[in-house]
Amino acid sequence: MENLRRGNKALIKDINRALVLDQLRSYGPLSRTDIAKRTKLGLSTLTKITDDLIAQGMIKEIGEGDSSGGRRPVYLEFNSNYGYALGVKIEERRIILALTNLQAEVLEKSYIDYSPGAPSDEVIGALIQGISKMMDKNKFLVHRWLGIGIAVSGLVDKNSGCLIFSTLLGWGEVPFRRILQGKFPVPIIVDNDVNAYALAELAYGYGREVGNFILATIGVGIGAGLVLDGKIFRGEFGGAGEIGHMVIYGKGNSCYCGRRGCLEAHAGEKFIVNETKRLLTQEKDSILYGERSTLTFARVLKAAEDGDCCARQAFWTAGYNLGIGLVNLINIMNPATIILAGESMSGQEFLLCGIRELLQTNFFTKYQEKFDLRVSALGDDAWERGAAILVINEHFREPIYRGQRTVYSM
Ligand SMILES: [Zn+2]
Repeated sequence: MENLRRGNKALIKDINRALVLDQLRSYGPLSRTDIAKRTKLGLSTLTKITDDLIAQGMIKEIGEGDSSGGRRPVYLEFNSNYGYALGVKIEERRIILALTNLQAEVLEKSYIDYSPGAPSDEVIGALIQGISKMMDKNKFLVHRWLGIGIAVSGLVDKNSGCLIFSTLLGWGEVPFRRILQGKFPVPIIVDNDVNAYALAELAYGYGREVGNFILATIGVGIGAGLVLDGKIFRGEFGGAGEIGHMVIYGKGNSCYCGRRGCLEAHAGEKFIVNETKRLLTQEKDSILYGERSTLTFARVLKAAEDGDCCARQAFWTAGYNLGIGLVNLINIMNPATIILAGESMSGQEFLLCGIRELLQTNFFTKYQEKFDLRVSALGDDAWERGAAILVINEHFREPIYRGQRTVYSM
């Protein structure tokens, strides 16, 4: 169990305050009467809470709303500039830093490039410099800096703020929180990058509409964020959602994890390139035939767009294989929606027909005619916005848990 606080007056007050804030953050602007209805709080208790929150600058009164006769109600709005978060995404060859307000809207962004395969201490050194620079530059904004959220590919123990290992980056254990805590006196929250994306979907994307969904990201690797009852399911030590290593063919292609037949080895970017090469041995008329020894994913994608049938067929097969993995997930989780994201979605028009072919039939087809499959409409910055949301959620989470609630003043 996390550190549960015992019931007392102060706790009840904190819970009510969190309830009001949550309503305003998610559904605001609202009138006091709307909030009272939604939270079932008495008007006098509510007014005390909203007065306190206004005095603290966390919410503000705005114009007058519509009213059918009588006095027009005053609306309350969450002040998204009450505090700021820094979202960091660590990619294979660059770090992205995004300073956001409390709606995770990006106010400023910077990029730090590094050589792929660089050791973790070198990259963390550059990250520390980047954060210091960003914060120095925005001194006037960061009087209420709520923390640093880090999204990184790999197995992450969110409780300890530690990366356990990352295949993409080639790193073993990296205790991000311990290292950064010494440099910046704010909460440091670390999570897997796909989970961070799922949080962005949950807060601002299609995930807002549904409590149970799977976010599947498809690119060099394949991963998933599993959202159950509006919360990310992380598993025992952060490994939930490693769908790239779901075995879909017992004697299939070799995977770097040591097994054969993993989904990633049958639907990742490398598969799409290799499958195109295989098809080219039979299709000498293809525009790619002369380039078959030097093919890249980008080239195959371009050829698919230009109508090349080998390239299109390779995408279709990858989509079909993905569909096998997704049908298994649907049968286990019974989600409302699957949301697809990631670099390979640039080839979505060729992948999706393969995926749909498979998803048409799953255990629930009898009850639900068509499965709700969507492509994420959030832009590329969903990763770093999700990293910032890690911080924002931690700050506003239910007060029944004891946690770090530092606000750093510069
Ligand atoms: Zn594998």
